[in-house]
Amino acid sequence: MIYLQNFINGKWIDAESKESREILNPATGEVIAHAADGDVADAQAAIGAARKAFDSGDWSELAATDRAAYLYKIADKLEENAEEISRLETLDNGKPLRETQFDVADAVACFRYYAGMVSKPDGITYQVSDPMQAMVVREPVGVCGLIVPWNYPLLMAVWKIAPALAAGNTIVFKPSEITPVTAKWLFEIIEQVGVPAGVANMVMGPGKTVGNEIAESHDVDKVSFTGGTATGRNIMKAAAGNIKKISLELGGKSPNIIFADADFEAAVDYALFGIYAGAGQVCSAGSRLLVEDSIYDRFVEELADRAQKIRVGPGNDPETEMGPLVSREHMEKVLGYIEIGKEEGAKLLCGGRQLKENGLEKGYFVEPTIFVDTKPDMRIVREEIFGPVLVIQRFKDEADAVRLANDTDYGLAAGVFTNDGAKAMRVIKKIRAGITWINCYHPTYNEAPWGGYKQSGIGRGLGTYGYEEFTEVKQININL
Ligand code: NAD
Repeated sequence: MIYLQNFINGKWIDAESKESREILNPATGEVIAHAADGDVADAQAAIGAARKAFDSGDWSELAATDRAAYLYKIADKLEENAEEISRLETLDNGKPLRETQFDVADAVACFRYYAGMVSKPDGITYQVSDPMQAMVVREPVGVCGLIVPWNYPLLMAVWKIAPALAAGNTIVFKPSEITPVTAKWLFEIIEQVGVPAGVANMVMGPGKTVGNEIAESHDVDKVSFTGGTATGRNIMKAAAGNIKKISLELGGKSPNIIFADADFEAAVDYALFGIYAGAGQVCSAGSRLLVEDSIYDRFVEELADRAQKIRVGPGNDPETEMGPLVSREHMEKVLGYIEIGKEEGAKLLCGGRQLKENGLEKGYFVEPTIFVDTKPDMRIVREEIFGPVLVIQRFKDEADAVRLANDTDYGLAAGVFTNDGAKAMRVIKKIRAGITWINCYHPTYNEAPWGGYKQSGIGRGLGTYGYEEFTEVKQININL
């Protein structure tokens, strides 16, 4: 049995209340770990440690190359332990091992990417109108609260921890209370490579207490959050007290547009991958498929045929193509949306059930599901389901596709499939979304900024943009 403690000021400690929480394997419902269930007092202890460490300058004033050296060491140790960490991530989150191996490799690359970035030249000097020089430098923001969801437990942590530490901040990290297992391994590595005590702290526990305290505390200078849009709204309110800097990476209901002139087979492959990777529990999932009239019937038929052949099972089975949903509660929510879709009058083309055969009955498995005959005002078309449920819409022409694609409160991602390059660019430029793909879906790169328009968030993660989000800009005016 795994036992997970908080990591505060360089020490592994239980929650002050001594309470712990059971962590379940979503493929079997079995308890795999007990995690310290922190609350406000634990969050405050971690924030205090991070504040002290930041103010000491031991990390923020360290030579950039020295901070980079720590990050490279963390990457190396993550890589050495990649097999074990992927196995644990699959156990905790449920995704197929193939996917968690990919996530861990991505996490390693992310640490290396930001380790490389800190030592690159930065800052500008302006020749201003007086006989003066105005120098512009970037400095760390201070204490950063990092709050992440359960769908990519390790990777979402690393997308925030790597740039935050690289830029010289100290951190208080909160994993999802549902999937805290791999964070323990990451923080053990941070400890092993000798990052000074108090620089990197982790507190496990509920969002309403631990997360809210991080968002609210006046000793936290910035909060970087990934999770649902409703939670993002609460965080904005909590962060208002000390006008905290905020970065929010929130939900989506992303359109994936298939034009009749697209490469048919590739579009089918990517449409399936777009929705069923991670069992649809991906913020950028292509959960609304828009298909042009003239190929609609053939495309939808092929898609349903292929969806029904997806092998659903435990993530540690090499044959598995799609794993379970993360928790019973989340499975009930997804099944609830399927019922709503039927009641709203959409046609269930395939799937729709919890899978209870072949030993899957104790886990949280839902069939790959497709709805057709949908209308733009249906809840299943407008709301983020965050499960293996694809909603298909039919469009007449380019203008119709753009109109339907933008008919959403979200603006995270979008895909366009066509062999006409000019049309692809025209359509993409009209779509109000931060992450877009032409003739592919889901590839994500450390170099390119990640984030959404509209209610999908504020700010960007990854790339130089993601680094800059963890910095303040200072002007230094020099009277020559
Ligand atoms: P969630 O919003 O319920 O929880 C996310 C985190 O916030 C958890 O650690 C939770 O404990 C914490 N939290 C909850 N209430 C809080 C509060 N009041 N104050 C502070 N923290 C609080 O999200 P989830 O169910 O864990 O994850 C699914 C959501 O995450 C989906 O909406 C998905 O689209 C989104 N997501 C977005 C991205 C992105 O990059 N845009 C990436 C992954 C997931």
